[in-house]
Amino acid sequence: MDGLRLLPSVDLFLKSDPGKELIARHGRQMVAEALRTRLDQARAAIRQGADPQRITEALAADLADDLAAGAQSNLRPLLNLTGTVLHTNLGRAILAEEAIRAAQAAMASALALEFDLGGGARGQRDDHLRGLLCDLTGAEDATVVNNNAAAVLIALNTFANGRDAVVSRGELIEIGGAFRMPDIMARAGAKLVEIGTTNRTHPRDYENAITADTGLLMKVHTSNYRIEGFTAEVPAADLAKIAARAAVPLLNDLGSGSLVDLAHFGLRREPTVAEAVAEGADLITFSGDKLLGGPQAGFIIGRRDLIEAINRNPLKRALRLDKIRIAALEATLRLYRDPDRLTERLPTLRHLSRKRPEIMEQAQRLTPKVAALLSPLGFTTRAADCESQVGSGALPTDTLPSAGLHLTGEGGDAPDRISARLRALPCPVVGHIADGALILDLRCLDRDGDLLDALAAL
Ligand SMILES: *Cc1c(COP(=O)(O)O)cnc(C)c1O
Repeated sequence: MDGLRLLPSVDLFLKSDPGKELIARHGRQMVAEALRTRLDQARAAIRQGADPQRITEALAADLADDLAAGAQSNLRPLLNLTGTVLHTNLGRAILAEEAIRAAQAAMASALALEFDLGGGARGQRDDHLRGLLCDLTGAEDATVVNNNAAAVLIALNTFANGRDAVVSRGELIEIGGAFRMPDIMARAGAKLVEIGTTNRTHPRDYENAITADTGLLMKVHTSNYRIEGFTAEVPAADLAKIAARAAVPLLNDLGSGSLVDLAHFGLRREPTVAEAVAEGADLITFSGDKLLGGPQAGFIIGRRDLIEAINRNPLKRALRLDKIRIAALEATLRLYRDPDRLTERLPTLRHLSRKRPEIMEQAQRLTPKVAALLSPLGFTTRAADCESQVGSGALPTDTLPSAGLHLTGEGGDAPDRISARLRALPCPVVGHIADGALILDLRCLDRDGDLLDALAAL
């Protein structure tokens, strides 16, 4: 077919100006591969009767699009307008500027990670966090691992490997997918001893379960659900006394674990980590990237002899943190020493504490500008109330009064269509679908311009 002769050869195209430009941006190998694929498609299309002239003229632009699409990372920044502040699938907490700077410096340079600058001797990487954690919580000692799941795993393995771990049936939680307390216990080598019933567990249930084989008593904060009605659980303070009398450690898995009283930020009061320490648990575990607002990490704080035993467990080496996260955690924890400026500096608390009137004002400000971009595509924009969630299993039954943009259009699939368009943007915009609309909750939108810039690419 003559039409096929219009298409350039690979060599010729790579030597052309558009070819050289693409090579400068993407590299010769990538351009050559994408070009071969494009040329195969073009030949097939021409054989099917497509216009060879048009295809040849569009080749450089089409190739540029292919390469640009291939160069886009799925990990590129996006706007979380889902209304879930700590969205596990969207990476949970956004770090404070201070933490970002510390992480960046740690990435770019050598640092005294396990090196005592004073004496020049070997140090421990947890030293950078231990003092801060003890100050902020009142605990005697602290250690840190990859995440809270790892914290629970290593604590169980250290004290209940081949022994009994006693837990209430009301607290045998599953936290999404593969983290189920009974499974973690099994992997830690612990024998699960379930006590009480789903809705009621009493002090005598624990007392009767304690034997010479008991490795530890465990309390799990039922962070992602709530049992209501005819219920009874043993408060941590009472459980601590039972554990002390039997001389077995009490492990309290707090899950989210807040370092500050959330009531100051207009949220429901959750027990703070310091309160859990004061109640007398021997060991307490909590996450770095939930309410605390830092990078992924798991903290274990409590009695010095027990923390030392955990640090001697060979699993510690497998679960330890790298310098980047230690630097970011240290900077995040330092912010807590100045509680007055915490909401300004820590994005998680800033987002959680925003009030509906302020967010509604933002929604009304944005409505005409967003409508101007979306109405040519056939979608209607209006400002409306919505409800946000904390996320990551924290305060599961509470919603936060919020506001956002309701996007609607013709046909039942309109919310899905606009949702797909916004997800495909160079800076994706992720909302949630409810009541026949795509809702963009503006609670986590720090700057109006971020949304307008993202939508400008539509
Ligand atoms: C979230 C949670 C975990 C797991 O924490 P990660 O930091 O996600 O590993 C464990 N226990 C409880 C009670 C939790 O809420």
